[in-house]
Amino acid sequence: MKISIVGTGYVGLVTGAGLADLGNKVVCLDIDREKIAKLNQGITPFYEKGLEELVKRNSKAHRLFFTNSLEEGIRDSEIIFIAVGTPSRKDGEADLSQVIQVAEDLSKVMQGYRIIVVKSTVPVGTFELIRKVLSKNKKEGIDFDIVSNPEFLREGDAVYDFFHPTRIIIGVEKGKEKVALILKELLRPLNSPFIQTSIINAQMIKYTSNVFLASRISFINEIANICEKVGADIVEVVKGMSFDKRLGDGYLRAGIGFGGPCLIKDLKALIKMSEEYSYQAQHLKSILEKNEHQVKYTVLKLRKLLGEVLYGKVIGVLGLTFKPGTNDVRNSLSLKIIEDLQKGGAKIRAYDPQGMKEAKNVLSNVCFCQDAYEACKGSDALLVLTAWDEFKHLELNRLKKELNSPILIDGVNLFDPGQMRSLGFIYRGVGR
Ligand code: NAD
Repeated sequence: MKISIVGTGYVGLVTGAGLADLGNKVVCLDIDREKIAKLNQGITPFYEKGLEELVKRNSKAHRLFFTNSLEEGIRDSEIIFIAVGTPSRKDGEADLSQVIQVAEDLSKVMQGYRIIVVKSTVPVGTFELIRKVLSKNKKEGIDFDIVSNPEFLREGDAVYDFFHPTRIIIGVEKGKEKVALILKELLRPLNSPFIQTSIINAQMIKYTSNVFLASRISFINEIANICEKVGADIVEVVKGMSFDKRLGDGYLRAGIGFGGPCLIKDLKALIKMSEEYSYQAQHLKSILEKNEHQVKYTVLKLRKLLGEVLYGKVIGVLGLTFKPGTNDVRNSLSLKIIEDLQKGGAKIRAYDPQGMKEAKNVLSNVCFCQDAYEACKGSDALLVLTAWDEFKHLELNRLKKELNSPILIDGVNLFDPGQMRSLGFIYRGVGR
């Protein structure tokens, strides 16, 4: 099939390259000129395991193309995917301006019938808005159908997730079974269960899934803090729980909280959306509050070990991205913690295997280091805030030697507390 993807970000590029690999002809579009220029030179604009190879292979096979021109990009396509960003506005509501802009632009250049598939995470009510905008400007006689096909890929495993989706949700309007069939035909090679439902259900499935994952993290962090008080070990507690299939162990890793481009924003958007429908989502609010509290709690732990004084202290930070396997620092709690420490007067030495460039665009007055050892040099404490594999293999004695004082706050429970203490670290994990 001939496909266009509008928005060549984490979701758009992975989806585009993946669909091309299934044998489709795909054009990926973006307004970002630098991004498209890079892609046309064979450079992948962000780090994601396996993506560069996938993009190169399909570009070479003339199945995958990149352009800034919407008119050119959708000329021959049968299906148009919208995968632009839906970030949080200041009040937490989803900012739909990118989606609406795409609808407006599409309405001006569509030359014939198109199926428009919305991959971006958008609140209930958005489809009516998109339909209105598309209908307002489109040329007479040109028709379209809209489908909701929310995305569930995980950054860091995005390519794997494209080829092995846990489920494919297809939200269509009543009487549009034919449209759902076309999309199923396109995605059938992925061998995944299809759930065909209404557009509203599809939207709620996406929000509920993300918010439920967030709730598991906030829940386990709450229990972890209790474990610290009573002298239990959260890792053992979760292990003991996980044998029960009803509980499992997914998203039950205690830590500094959940960050990244989706969980916080989708949680806020669902809270806002509920308010618009005159419902106060108390439980959802408490998930968010717990997450904010966990960041403060991490800083508090460090303060305690430093005798309540942050001013003038040098803090080494390992990990800047919101999770390992990506260079994405959007809503990274590591950056939030760094900013809080800076407000208290601390100086930061930081290192991350992939996210240094991105963090430099957000943070100021940070000494960015070549490696973990350099980040420790002369530091009064070390914080480990992203669970990169690379950090598991560090020479711990060398790390300790570089530090001014052997204080280590392990915000992601990467190390074994017993081993760390026997090596002479003043070690604090989360919930153990
Ligand atoms: P992103 O910011 O990485 O990519 C969005 C892209 O859209 C950018 O490259 C931007 O330049 C482009 N864009 C903006 N306006 C445009 C326009 N008018 N025309 C063409 N391109 C335009 O965003 P993302 O992380 O890929 O997320 C996209 C959507 O998917 C969001 O709604 C997000 O919530 C959802 N989602 C994201 C993930 C994830 O892990 N990142 C997972 C599931 C769902």
